[in-house]
Amino acid sequence: MSARVLMHICCGPCSMYPATRLLEQGHEVTGFFYNPNIQPLQEYLKRREAAEQAARELGMKIIFQDQDVDPRVYLRQVAFREDKRCFLCHQLRLERTRSAARRGGFDFFSTTLMFSKMQPFEQICALGKTLETEKCRFLDQDFRPGWKQGIERSRAIGLYRQNYCGCIYSEFERFKGSLPRNGQ
Ligand code: SF4
Repeated sequence: MSARVLMHICCGPCSMYPATRLLEQGHEVTGFFYNPNIQPLQEYLKRREAAEQAARELGMKIIFQDQDVDPRVYLRQVAFREDKRCFLCHQLRLERTRSAARRGGFDFFSTTLMFSKMQPFEQICALGKTLETEKCRFLDQDFRPGWKQGIERSRAIGLYRQNYCGCIYSEFERFKGSLPRNGQ
């Protein structure tokens, strides 16, 4: 059965396999790029461009929520609750996707976060299910089996691939090893 799906896009490379899969299944897929967690702005712009390039390659419509890239949107969501920051980050992005999907009359909403082996699949699924409504359901398809295929395709078209998850905390964790040692 064909359905209208609003797919939250976390980045271009992660969108390749899930969108292809849903399009092959006969669904009408629209991308939704809402990621105030991606900081700083220049990194956001690189990932935005890659998402646009991926959507062109897939022939998929994509909606950007650039009005909300103000870093305070994400930072206020996680401030003083940093130990739960990933859950809060997923919640922020999925809630917005669900609201846009409801307003737009979509049958389903979903997220490319469920393609990534770096993200907690079960937790994201459970969160999506708590947000769904009778008319706008959460599509909990596991896209991880297509990991290799999706990455290869994104490499083949030269998509920008980021080297940290997105927030400044993840950037710090990724690169803190390059800090000089005290006194040297
Ligand atoms: S590490 Fe990634 S998922 Fe977790 S809060 Fe940062 S950007 Fe969000």
